[in-house]
Amino acid sequence: MLQQRSLKTLTRAVGVGLHSGQRVELTLRPAQPDTGIVFRRVDLPQPVDIPVRAEAVTDTRLASTIAQGNAKVHTVEHLMSACAGLGIDNLHVDITAEEVPILDGSSASFVFLLQSAGIVRQNAPKRFIRVTRPVQVREGEGADAKWAQLAPYHGYKLSFEIDFDHPAVDSTGQRVEFDLGQGNYRRDIARARTFGFTRDVELMRSNGLALGGGLDNAIVMDDYKVLNSDGLRYDDEFVKHKILDAMGDLHLLGKPLLAAYSAFRSGHALNNRLLRALLAQRDAWEVVTFEDERQAPGGFAQPAQAW
Ligand SMILES: [Zn+2]
Repeated sequence: MLQQRSLKTLTRAVGVGLHSGQRVELTLRPAQPDTGIVFRRVDLPQPVDIPVRAEAVTDTRLASTIAQGNAKVHTVEHLMSACAGLGIDNLHVDITAEEVPILDGSSASFVFLLQSAGIVRQNAPKRFIRVTRPVQVREGEGADAKWAQLAPYHGYKLSFEIDFDHPAVDSTGQRVEFDLGQGNYRRDIARARTFGFTRDVELMRSNGLALGGGLDNAIVMDDYKVLNSDGLRYDDEFVKHKILDAMGDLHLLGKPLLAAYSAFRSGHALNNRLLRALLAQRDAWEVVTFEDERQAPGGFAQPAQAW
């Protein structure tokens, strides 16, 4: 049987929120089979649990925010991406403020935390959502057009294309494909950092955003070039970060996907609309398990690699 996964022990991290600039403590704890991933705001007078699911996403401007009543957690996508990349099904995420720490702007630190705590197989079958027919969402027309789609695939692969008109981005690959069955999430995707432009930062800060952002947790560009003295971590780091984000946004479904995702200029908002469109079309998906692990697609069956 292909089994669900959780952590062996708990692990902690401290950092600042990218947008709030607030100091925040994060505790990742093992969870029972079929719990899913549940954030808990432990700083509120009455702690509030926020289980991840597509409908829990309430705000997608600049980051993915989930909420339960008035309790919110912003910028969940990089941690969720690490969970998707390592096949984590069940996890408690205790958090002391309303934003997940940005750490180095990628998901590499979350991957390190999760693997350091140890990943265990649990006595319950891993439940996938298998896409059985294509579902697409679109936004805008002509040069503003964006789209994202899910199509049937025995495995999980993502292809993403960006279209930035900026000298520093133009000179890099703007399209990338990642197949979980063939690639290695930790090596190929996890280190890609979020990115931003100095011309946007002033406006964002005047709106109370990007207060924790800087050269140590983002690729920052002026109108011509990358300002980080160490340059890029991958030749195509920008579009790889979009794959990282998409994996996190899609893991908010609550179960791993068996599908081919492809997208052109998509973002958190369109990714969430895609999940809701999928769920709304009840004949476009089914829940499957694998009694015989050998029948499972590549990337899911093998144990997570140790450091
Ligand atoms: Zn991101």
